[in-house]
This record gives sequence, structure tokens and C-alpha cells, in this order.
Amino acid sequence: MKRYGLYINGSWSDPDTGIWFDTQNPYTGEAWAKIAQGNAADVDRAVAAAKAAFEGVWGTMKPTERGKLLVRLAELIERDAARLGGLEVCDNGKLIAEMGAQTKYMAEWYRYYGGLADKIEGAVIPTDKPNILNFTRYEPLGVVALITPWNSPLLLLAWKLAAALAAGNTTVIKPSEFTSVSTLEFMSLFAEAGFPPGVVNVVTGFGLEAGAPLVAHRDVEKVAFTGSDIAGQKIYEAAARKIMPVTLELGGKSPNIVFANANFEAAIMGAISGIFAASGQTCIAGSRLLVQRSIHDKFVARLVEVAGAAKIGDPMSTETNVGPITTRPQFQKVLDYIDIAKDEGATCVLGGKPYTGKGAQGGQFIEPTIFTGVTNDMRIAQEEVFGPILSVIPFEDEAEAIEIGNDIDFGLAAGVWTSDIGCALRMSERLRAGTVWVNTYRAVSFTSPFGGYKRSGEGRESGKDAIKEFLQVKSVWIAH
Ligand code: NAD
Repeated sequence: MKRYGLYINGSWSDPDTGIWFDTQNPYTGEAWAKIAQGNAADVDRAVAAAKAAFEGVWGTMKPTERGKLLVRLAELIERDAARLGGLEVCDNGKLIAEMGAQTKYMAEWYRYYGGLADKIEGAVIPTDKPNILNFTRYEPLGVVALITPWNSPLLLLAWKLAAALAAGNTTVIKPSEFTSVSTLEFMSLFAEAGFPPGVVNVVTGFGLEAGAPLVAHRDVEKVAFTGSDIAGQKIYEAAARKIMPVTLELGGKSPNIVFANANFEAAIMGAISGIFAASGQTCIAGSRLLVQRSIHDKFVARLVEVAGAAKIGDPMSTETNVGPITTRPQFQKVLDYIDIAKDEGATCVLGGKPYTGKGAQGGQFIEPTIFTGVTNDMRIAQEEVFGPILSVIPFEDEAEAIEIGNDIDFGLAAGVWTSDIGCALRMSERLRAGTVWVNTYRAVSFTSPFGGYKRSGEGRESGKDAIKEFLQVKSVWIAH
């Protein structure tokens, strides 16, 4: 079994703890790699390497050269997309049918931000003072910490890392303890592309032992985090103690709203992919399906028919529609929420239990599950499950759809299905979420800002403005 060290200053080293832990394949349940258990001493080494690179070769490199390296990296990702995607399948249980394309698409973030690297411009500011020139410079922050979750390790890293490097920062990455392999394997491409040592470092390990010391480290100037709102809150508090900027991409409980005048089959497919893609383990999952009352029963019947026919099983098979739950604790959490929903009085019309049928092989599967009779005050409607559990809630009209849609602490995304353009515009204006999709779901792009309202986060990733999350502005005055 391959044993991975920590990636610090362009080379591999053993962890200070001398401990390696197993990482499991969620389909087979077998350990398939050993991951180094990093701690504060390892964080110190990684941050020191990143700081030296920032103060040295990376800090003096021309932005155009930084951009070229990022574009070169994008080419290498495209070359290796199948290999990197395959690693995500083993580590995370993602579907091979999706991973090749998703990994290839990830390259676009590096290419896009590579193009922006030499377009970071200040301005000459007219002031009220005589004989003085005032101008602004946008400068990198320094060493930034990038902390990622298990559900889309490489893609979510790209959203942070591409912008952080284009802006001129150096980085220390802390991937999820459940899915570190793809990030570690990815490191070889940085050396091949020609990035100097120390620009990108990885400390693996657990949140409290490796993540928390990284956030608290005196020489770390920013943290960009994707993960749960609970860990996000702790990181925000730790950052506040240092007065350090953060980007937080947190959880969601997104409403996917179907009006009676919508294209029926398109809305069905949008509702299905909204919740069951990646077995519901996506932050943007449309886990609250609001259906206009006049079509509610017909819509639910068709949903049950389509979701009930999904092929569950081996994520390595291109025939599979629904893969395993990535981690053991997450598997248990989803089962607990099924019990909670039943106790609250919701009606389970599909699934509601682990899948043990053909192709399950003892993997951590949960059947696509649909609850009706859900009211928006129930826990199953208010709390993020992060699994293949859909709660269906009826509504009468636009006003009620808005009221229910917004009656939630989260605000990551929302979907609307309607053939009425006026309704589409009103809903997109009034829904309190960082992304609103109309007659589609899940569209994201390197060119478009992504992030959460309310408890779903702070700051934005992707798009040209997101590079400012990794910059600070300096005002320079020169008397003449
Ligand atoms: P998590 O919060 O448990 O862990 C995320 C990362 O934070 C891991 O690397 C973990 O080790 C680290 N961590 C945990 N506690 C920490 C601490 N106190 N200090 C520093 N680091 C710490 O999240 P998860 O279970 O890996 O991921 C699932 C969550 O991520 C869901 O809530 C999901 O909605 C969210 N998510 C959000 C987005 C988004 O873009 N908004 C995208 C994907 C996932």
C-alpha cells in the first residue's frame, strides 16, 4: 500500500508524529493508502517554506511568468485528467462516468487565473492635495492557508489555489483527512510545470491537529476554507483573534422550486440531479424540493419512478448513477436523518434505507430517498444532511414559494423551474442565495462568482473579482 509523506518545500518528508493513518475506498471498504498525520510542528515547517518562497523567488517573479506557469499546469492537468479523476473515484466514491470530464474542466480555473495574473492593476487617484501623486497597488497577502473538504477535493482546491497563486501568494494546503490522495498526487504536476519549491505545500492530517494550527499560525495571512458551517465558524473565530481575512464556502439547504407551468420532464431531471448527483454529497444539493400544489402528486409519482430506477453500485462502472457515501461517519449521519424525518412525521415514499442489493459489495450505499409531507420547520427541512435525501414541500403561489425558500439559515443556491419569464425574474431577485438557477441546476464556471449568503459563507470564489480575495490594496503618496 502506498504511503504518502507531507509535501513541503518541493519534497516529501515524514510527519513529526511518525504516524500514518489508513484512507479507505468507500466502495470496497478497504484501506488503499497511508496518509501522514501532520501536526503543529509540520505546519511550522510548511509555513516557513511558503514564507521563504514568498519573500524569495515567487515574490520577485514577474506576474506574466506566474501566469505562464499556471497555464502550463492547466495543460498538465488535462494530460493527466483520467489518472487524477480515477484517484477521486477510489478515495471519494465519485462516479468514473463524471470524473474524467470534471477533472479536465478543473484545468480551466488554472488557465483563467493564469490569464489574470498580469492584469492586476491599481489606479492613479485624483486627490484634493496639491503637488502629490497618489496611486494604488494591489499586493498579495503572503502565505495563505487553503483547507478543503472531502466531497470534491481537487475541484474545490482549484477554486482557491488558482486565484491565490495568480495573485502572487504562496500556499499551505490542508486537504480532508478522508480524501488526501488526489491532492498529494497532484503535487508532482507543480514541479513538472516549473513552480519553485515552497510555493505550494501540503500538510495532511486531522482538523484539530493540522488544520487549527495552520489557521492560528502567525505567518499565515489568510484562510480560504470549504467545509461545514460548524468548522467554518470555528475558523472564523480563530481568524478574528488574528484579524485575518477569510473566505468561507460552507453548507447549504437549497430550495429547488417547481412551478406548475414548468417543462415537466426538465424539472423532473433537474430535481433528480439537484439532489442525487454525488449521492447528495454536494453543498449545492437541491435538498428542499418545493412543488406547486396543483402538480404535487403527479410530480412526486414521476420522481419516484425515475429515482427508483437509478442504478446504484460500483463507481468505476460507467453504468452507475448513484455511488457510495464517502465516509463512515457521513453514512451514519444520513441514516440518523432518515430516522429523524420519520420521527417528525414525514412520509418516506422512496428508499429510506441502506442499499445492499446487486453491486453493493458491502459498500456504504444509501438508496435514493424521498420524503413527502415535509413542513419547512422540520429538522429534515432545516439542517444539511449531505446525502441522497430529498424533502418535498408543497406551495400555493410565488409569495409562498419565496417565503418557504428564504425561511432557512443557509443561502448557498436556489433553483426555479417555470415557463413564465416574469416569475423567473421576480424569483431570482427575491431568493436570498448566492446562486439562482432558472430552468437548470448545478451550472458553475470559472468565470462566474460562487459563494453563499447567510450561514453558507463569506466571500466569493471564481470569476475575475475573486482574485481580490487574495490581494490587499496599498495607497502610495509621492510628493513632487
Ligand atoms: P468539515 O468542515 O468537517 O472539514 C473540512 C476541512 O476542514 C477538513 O480538511 C477538516 O480536516 C478541516 N477542519 C475541520 N475542523 C477544523 C478546524 N477547527 N480548524 C481547521 N481545519 C478544520 O467538512 P467536510 O465534512 O469535509 O465537508 C462537507 C461540508 O463541506 C458540507 O457542509 C458541505 O456543504 C461543505 N461544502 C461547501 C462547499 C461550498 O462551496 N460552499 C462545497 C463543498 C462542500
